Amino acid sequence: MHVVITGANRGIGWALAERYRAQGHGVMGTARDGSAEVQLDVADPAQQAAMADQLKGQPVDLLICNAGVYLDKGHSIDDYPAEMWAQSFAANVTGVFLTVQSLLPNLRAAGGRIAIMSSQMASHTRAPGGSYIYRASKAAALNLGRNLAADLKADGIAVGIYHPGWVKTDMGGSAADIHVDQAVAGLMERFDALSLDNTGCFETYDGKPHAY
Ligand code: NAP
Repeated sequence: MHVVITGANRGIGWALAERYRAQGHGVMGTARDGSAEVQLDVADPAQQAAMADQLKGQPVDLLICNAGVYLDKGHSIDDYPAEMWAQSFAANVTGVFLTVQSLLPNLRAAGGRIAIMSSQMASHTRAPGGSYIYRASKAAALNLGRNLAADLKADGIAVGIYHPGWVKTDMGGSAADIHVDQAVAGLMERFDALSLDNTGCFETYDGKPHAY
């Protein structure tokens, strides 16, 4: 299987890349610091075009849109600058869409699958308040995934949206619930189970449907 993973230089993306490589799959990781196979700031259209060129003609079986930021973690309600909204949406929403757009020919060639890393914080039924930017951006990523699922079904491309758990990474912090290995093991099972029959699903890493 040929797998492309954005944000593969640390955290969940890095661990996914390691596990897929260990299983013998071909992995193209992307990183904005140039430390992976493809240099990509997901929000940069020029770098997206360069990635599309670099991967031209290579079928992609699984695209994992993992790169993301949580810039408003712990902020109080009077501290949500407009620039933070723009940066967060650029990475967490626009970045997902641009990545899918860039690799659509590769995904079509393989009848591939797309996994979008959203969060339980995307849910509007589970809404405890706070983290307005991150929650709104992950809700938008969920909405994007649901609509892409509808449009890409005719191309044979399935789209799943996932909550990876609360994971001990730079983003999740040391107080998080689960080790990255547990998150990744569960996510890989979910990606294996993603098909045109369950396209548009919003699931947790351990296989539960998530409330929208
Ligand atoms: P992390 O440790 O902070 O890693 C984030 C990754 O995304 C890094 O590789 C980072 O690259 C990359 N990234 C951020 N903005 C980017 C951009 N504009 N272009 C390219 N790469 C970019 O986070 P994580 O915990 O592994 O999270 C991975 C995904 O899971 C994220 O989408 C996150 O929202 C989601 N998630 C995580 C948790 C959790 O508990 N950890 C829970 C729910 C959802 P740099 O090194 O260049 O910054």
